[in-house]
Amino acid sequence: MSVEQLRLAVYRGFADTGRAPTGQELAVTLGVSEDTVRWGLHTLHEQRHIVVRDGAVAMAHPFSSVPLGFSVMGPQTLWWGGCAWDSFALPHLVGVDVLVATRCPGCGRALAWNVDNRTPPSGDEVAHFLLPVTMLWDDVVHACGNQRLFCGEPCVAEWLTATGQERGCVMDLATLWRLAQHWYEGRLSRGYERRDPTTAAAYFASVGLKGPFWGQ
Ligand SMILES: [Zn+2]
Ligand SMILES: [Zn+2]
Repeated sequence: MSVEQLRLAVYRGFADTGRAPTGQELAVTLGVSEDTVRWGLHTLHEQRHIVVRDGAVAMAHPFSSVPLGFSVMGPQTLWWGGCAWDSFALPHLVGVDVLVATRCPGCGRALAWNVDNRTPPSGDEVAHFLLPVTMLWDDVVHACGNQRLFCGEPCVAEWLTATGQERGCVMDLATLWRLAQHWYEGRLSRGYERRDPTTAAAYFASVGLKGPFWGQ
């Protein structure tokens, strides 16, 4: 078993079922021992392809097995959406139309959008990312958990005051959708390579996200 075969099995499992395959399931799929799977998952975690917690796959971006405030409903499959970015990325990666649902952290209102891979959803809601991309991997689950969607600027301001936090970056739905559009491209295919910081910064700039927050 190569580590790349394991990565693909994790991603395929998430894409098809909405949940992370267990170590036992991966061992059966790949015809290897559970120890080999454990070693492989650890390697993928070290390489930042996935996030392993307590021996299980917690995240394989844009997929998540831990709830971070979003659900993403496809025609056949229900996913935890990870963050706002990840939830909007799922229709691009998996190629199905979805319903993204969340609760505004500012006022608690229920929010939902039909999201597809053709045009950005309409709406006046905004996304707020708390932590700059350069800090994402310090604690990626925490960072993802703070990339949320709000009714609008007033709800962002209210939430920041209530939680005593500094404003990060606010963007409209169309920008979030374009950010999500190609970011995870190729992750369901063999030979995927993560972007280095320079390529990532160029990608962010191409969708209009610039400055130190975006690693430039
Ligand atoms: Zn609100
Ligand atoms: Zn995320």
